[in-house]
Amino acid sequence: MSRRFWVETLGCPKNQVDSDKLTGTMLAEGLVPAAAPGEADLVVVNTCAFIEEARQESIDVVLDLADRRPAGAELVVTGCLAERYGAELAEALPEADAVVGFGVPVTLGPTRRPAGAAPVLDLLNLPRPPAVAPWAYVKVAEGCDRACGFCAIPTFRGKQRSRPVEAVLAEVEGLAATGVREVVLVAQDLAAYGRDQGRGQRRIVPLVAAVAERVERVRLLYLYPSDLTDGLVDAVCATGVPYFDLSLQHASAPLLRRMRRWGDGDRFLRRVEAIRARVPEAAFRSSFIVGYPGETEDDHDLLLDFVARAELDWAGFFAYSEEAGTYAAGLGGAVPAGLVADRLAELRELQDAITAAGRDRLIGSVVEVLVDAPGVARSHREAPEIDGIVAVPDDLAVGAFVKVRVTGAAGPDLDAVVA
Ligand code: SF4
Repeated sequence: MSRRFWVETLGCPKNQVDSDKLTGTMLAEGLVPAAAPGEADLVVVNTCAFIEEARQESIDVVLDLADRRPAGAELVVTGCLAERYGAELAEALPEADAVVGFGVPVTLGPTRRPAGAAPVLDLLNLPRPPAVAPWAYVKVAEGCDRACGFCAIPTFRGKQRSRPVEAVLAEVEGLAATGVREVVLVAQDLAAYGRDQGRGQRRIVPLVAAVAERVERVRLLYLYPSDLTDGLVDAVCATGVPYFDLSLQHASAPLLRRMRRWGDGDRFLRRVEAIRARVPEAAFRSSFIVGYPGETEDDHDLLLDFVARAELDWAGFFAYSEEAGTYAAGLGGAVPAGLVADRLAELRELQDAITAAGRDRLIGSVVEVLVDAPGVARSHREAPEIDGIVAVPDDLAVGAFVKVRVTGAAGPDLDAVVA
């Protein structure tokens, strides 16, 4: 009887792609998916280590699955937490049969895996199993060459390694052949794609155009604002999915400098307004860090003002988490936790109202949606898993593009009928 496996994925879309590829290797080795962790012979947890909250969640999930796994089933911990803490984590988690870093097979079994096993799998370029939805993430690069003050990712994901364009396009074609109609391109620093391939110039624009020739929808996540060139804006708009996920992190110039990042609220606003003037239906998402060391009341007011004026469709706000090995870890000016919580609440309340008002303005309009699952669809304004959805009649075919009329809105979600 074939061994059954279960993969539990935590963290970001890039981790989701890694899990897909690990699944592909296990299927290729003859293992079969279990319906639940309690039925698996091998339980794999693909962890996240970005911030303290994510690390705690990863450990909680590992301990929970250790309790729920059948007797004799193997528990393997992989992903960012395993890569970042390796032997230290293995010592702290005796419940796990193995803790393996990136690219180390998860099926080797506890005895046959030497300590500190070297990666043998190039996760980035591994084949992936057929898609299970009409959309899929495609990771086009690994690692990052930047040094944002709060971020430890480059310390464990390494320097940027872009995949060859041919490998990305082959994966996209494979996914399209199994029913994918929307590809979501991801990387730590997506707009810098190709810069590391010895030519020094970015290759994201031709990549977007080439992917758009192979699927109906292309969406981009994690765009560093200084790399949002006119050429990239043109390429995104040409795909028919004018969706801009800009990693802004703050709006105060002095604080962004302290974060070792580019830009300021006024420049970001001018960029957003210029795109809106050109494509009024463009959608924007961003994420912001609150409570970075040295953040003053003035900095906070600048961010509040930016959020109010930018009226982004979607935005996430996260408390600063001190990360060992980062520039910010050595900085003074810690913001008291209570003040951080107050600032977060104020920003989230403001953004929730902006998001809801934006949704209300869509009532009565006709939009084209991709049906992801029975009754669940998305227009160009909604990225999978992180934004709201468009609720549609259950009988619409999964994978179909349908024109619908928006009849109502409830928070981030819309209701719609066939137009
Ligand atoms: S761009 Fe900055 S925040 Fe993003 S992965 Fe690189 S260093 Fe981290």
